[in-house]
Amino acid sequence: MRIDVLTIFPQLFEPFLRAGILGHAIAEGLVAVSVRDLRDWTHDRHRSVDDAPYGGGPGMVMRPEPLVAAIEALAGPRSSQRRALVVLLSPQGQRLDQAGLGALAEREQLVLVCGRYEGVDQRAIELAVDLELSIGDYVLSGGEVPAMAVIEGVARLLPGAVGNPESIRGDSFATGILGGPQYTRPPVFRGLAVPEVLVSGNHAAVAEWRAERARDITRRRRPDLLAALGEEES
Ligand code: SAH
Repeated sequence: MRIDVLTIFPQLFEPFLRAGILGHAIAEGLVAVSVRDLRDWTHDRHRSVDDAPYGGGPGMVMRPEPLVAAIEALAGPRSSQRRALVVLLSPQGQRLDQAGLGALAEREQLVLVCGRYEGVDQRAIELAVDLELSIGDYVLSGGEVPAMAVIEGVARLLPGAVGNPESIRGDSFATGILGGPQYTRPPVFRGLAVPEVLVSGNHAAVAEWRAERARDITRRRRPDLLAALGEEES
C-alpha cells in the first residue's frame, strides 16, 4: 500500500515514520509513506498556502490552488477511475473508528491532506477530496497528528505488520468491546499480586477470565459499545 501525506510541516513525520511497528512495516515494504511539502505546489515568491477568509473573521484559510494541484499530482483528477482515496483530516469529518481503519487498510493508495489555520477552502474539498475524517470531537491546530493516527492505525492492520495476528484480533474494538487488563512480571508489585488464574496454567480458565474482565470494563466505561452489539447492559 502507498500513503502520500500533504502538509506544510513535513519534518513532523520524520522520527515518527522510523519507530516501532510502523517503522518496521515501512522497512519491510508493506507500506510506502511519502510526505510532501504543500509549498512545492505554490508559484509565488513567498510560497504562500493561506489567505484571509472571505466574509471576514479571525485567522487564515488554506487556498484551493496549491491544494488541488498537489492532490491531482499525487492522485490524478477525481474520477471513477481514480485509485487513490483522498482523505482530508477535519474535525467536521466522519469520526474515525476501528472499522473505518479496517476499510482504509484495504485501499491501494491513500492521500492524507493535513489542514492548518482555520481550515481549507470549501472548493478544494468539493473538487478534490473523497472523504473527510475526524479523529474525535476536539480541535487540534493541524491535521498532522490526525494523519499520524491514521497511518499508524492502518499500518498495524496490514498483513505481516504485527508479529502475532492474535494480538490484533484481541484488541479493544476489534472484538466490538474494550480489551481487558494486562499483567507482566513481577508476580507481586508493591503488595499487589497478579490475579491467581493468570498463573494457573489453565488456558480455558484464563480465556474465560479475560472475556469476563473485558465485558466488565466495557459495561462500566462504554455501555454504548455493548448496546451497539445488540446486547443488554445487565
Ligand atoms: N476551524 C476549523 C478547525 C480548524 S483546525 C473548524 O472549526 O472545523 C485546523 C486543522 O487541523 C483542520 O483543517 C484539520 O486538518 C486539523 N484538525 C483539527 N482537529 C481535528 C480533528 N479532530 N480531526 C481531524 N483533523 C483535525
